[in-house]
Order: sequence, then structure tokens, then C-alpha cells
Amino acid sequence: MRYTPRMSDSSESFDVVTVLGAGTMGHGIAQVCAAAGAQTRMYDIDDAFVRTGLERVAKNLQKGVDRGKVSEDDRVATLTRLTGTANLEEAVTGATLVIEAVPEKLELKRELLGKVAAIAGPRAVLGTNTSSLSVADIASGLEAPERVIGTHFFNPVHIMKLLELIVAPQTSPEVVARVTAFGEKIGKECITVRDSPGFATSRLGLVIGLEAIRMVEQKVASPEDIDKAMTLGYGFPMGPLKLTDLVGLDVRLHIAEYLAEKLEDGAHFQPPQLLRDMVAAGKLGKKSGRGFYEWD
Ligand code: NAD
Repeated sequence: MRYTPRMSDSSESFDVVTVLGAGTMGHGIAQVCAAAGAQTRMYDIDDAFVRTGLERVAKNLQKGVDRGKVSEDDRVATLTRLTGTANLEEAVTGATLVIEAVPEKLELKRELLGKVAAIAGPRAVLGTNTSSLSVADIASGLEAPERVIGTHFFNPVHIMKLLELIVAPQTSPEVVARVTAFGEKIGKECITVRDSPGFATSRLGLVIGLEAIRMVEQKVASPEDIDKAMTLGYGFPMGPLKLTDLVGLDVRLHIAEYLAEKLEDGAHFQPPQLLRDMVAAGKLGKKSGRGFYEWD
């Protein structure tokens, strides 16, 4: 069945939101949706992951209260609107917007959204938080692919203001309008980007990150000094090497390989040997305790 927009579509908000995956991104996306007033459900494959996701939201909100950024009433109301489950049918039935934030694997995302489409019906809008994959590829084969859009949030979701909307050729303008309005409602600034490898953010961010790694490789300066060049010289909030440590060297390597292959003029995304060597040595950044910096 095809997505059939109604006249009021662009102003129609999403009252019931389901987030698939309760990890780093999923719990944050669920938090901002619940905080903005949507009945929000968080789904993961295991009760323990769901519990951890809910605990992370509760912790973020408590921190917000402690810092005077969130009122006690809002903390309580947000938690009241948020539920978690490891039952997909329960999570998705009646949802008007479903956002997936499961691992960056095309087949996994496709298969999961296929199941969701069968449960939620053709009117539910489907968002994918992929950071590099083609939204058109994720949507292909799905019922009503015109309701699929890239909803690329940034980490930590409750703090970062950007929501990058990835519009695939089949995405309907009504879906773009509705999701843009919802993005604003949850406190984000939306940018709209054509579905092309690396979108705007990953493509630009990676150019600087890879060049910084090449400069370390060529002993131009230390990681600390290269990062300082960008924070103090250009006003970046964080240097490119520290950011690479936070994102994960393996994640950046994977995206670099993908962009080098997919972009017509992508030769400059060929990963530096140093990046490959560090990943092979298990120096993945903050998550492994060692990258361009030492982490506790
Ligand atoms: P994560 O590993 O922290 O969380 C993924 C969660 O998905 C896990 O809790 C896992 O149990 C769950 N999961 C696995 N299979 C599932 C399934 N079939 N159904 C439901 N849940 C399932 O990963 P993440 O960092 O939150 O990344 C999620 C997505 O967001 C990826 O596509 C990633 O590229 C993208 N992204 C990540 C970041 C970041 O900084 N981490 C930023 C932007 C976008």
C-alpha cells in the first residue's frame, strides 16, 4: 500500500514515537522525544539493554536537574512518558514515528524496518539514524518507501542541537515537512541533505579528521598541538583527533573506506596507514582506553 498524505500532513505531529535500539544514540533520541511531549517507547533485543537505556535517560535527566537545566516537574513528566520493552509488536503497534538506532549494518536495518512496517502499517513514518549508509538502500524493498527518511542525530543527543535530515529520492515532501516540524519541536535545528555518501556531516568532518591523522603520521606536530591548532586557531569546540577518539577509530576507518569506495572523487578518503595500524592494534579511542590520547 502506498503512503497517502492528507492535506494536514505537514502540521500533523507525531504523538507516539518508537525508538529501536537503546544504545548510545537510541536512549538519547528517546529522551528528547519524551521530553518534548511524545509518548515514547524504547525497544531493544534484550530486557537488560532496555533497562540500561532507561537508566541512562534517568541519569541524564537527574544531571540536568542538578545543573539547573531541567525542572523537577519536567524530569518526572519525561520519565512518565517513556516506556521500554523487548517486544517489537508491543513497541511498534500504534506508533506514528519509528526511528531506528541499531548497529550500522544495512541488512540488519532493512530487516528490522521490514518487520516494523508490517506491524505499524503504511502510515507510520520511518526514520533511520544511519551515519553513512544510503537511505534509499535501507528503504528499498520496504512497503511504502516514501515514508522513510534519514534522521541523523548527534552524540550526546540531548545536548547536540543538530538533526541532519537525509532525503532519499523516494522520500515524500510531506514526510520531510512533518519530520522537520517534529525536529524543531524536540529542540533541534534541522538541515536537509540529499542522500549521498557521508551526507554533509560525516563527509566534511572526516576530511579534517583524516588530514589530522596524516599530519600525525608525517610528524608535522603532536596530536595535542594539532587539536589546539583547530580549537584555539579556528574556534572548533574540540580538536579533530580528540573527536576521532570519541567517535571511535574503527568507526571512522569504516566510514572512510565506505566514502573512498562510494564517492566519485573519493580518493582523498583513502584511510591513512596510521589509522589502519592503530585499529589493527586495538587502539580504538576512548572506548578501548587508548587512541591518540590515553583515556581512563
Ligand atoms: P550502540 O551499539 O550503542 O547501540 C545499538 C543498540 O542496538 C544496542 O543496544 C543493541 O543491543 C541494539 N540492537 C542490536 N540489534 C537490534 C535489533 N535487531 N533490534 C533492536 N535493537 C537492536 O550503537 P549507537 O552508537 O547507538 O549507533 C546506532 C546507530 O546510530 C548506528 O547506525 C550508528 O552509525 C548511528 N550513529 C551513531 C553515532 C555515535 O556517535 N555513536 C552518531 C550518529 C549516528
